[in-house]
Amino acid sequence: MGRIFLDHIGGSRLFSCASCDTILTNRSELISTRFTGATGRAFLFNKVVNLNYSEVQDRVMLTGRHMVRDVSCKNCDAKLGWIYEFATEENQRYKEGRVILERALVTESDGMEEHMGDD
Ligand SMILES: [Zn+2]
Repeated sequence: MGRIFLDHIGGSRLFSCASCDTILTNRSELISTRFTGATGRAFLFNKVVNLNYSEVQDRVMLTGRHMVRDVSCKNCDAKLGWIYEFATEENQRYKEGRVILERALVTESDGMEEHMGDD
């Protein structure tokens, strides 16, 4: 009810905006849960949809210098995390193009099960 599907990613375990329930990504895109954001635990995803992006910022983190953009919900503009554009440290390059969503700012829920078979 009232859920706006700006872009449908599908999947059975969904992550959505905690403010407005817009679907952002799913469990199969999850790379790591071992990140820390401004609000605490944060998740690294391969692909996230329905985001707005800020200007690129130069940010020094514990793991080195990175170029990042803050990401927010395309529907309600709530801040959700950030995306890595570029990492200067060779061993951090796997994060480029990947998205951090803060655990406290998203909701994880069961999606619709795809019913296959003929019963
Ligand atoms: Zn939202």
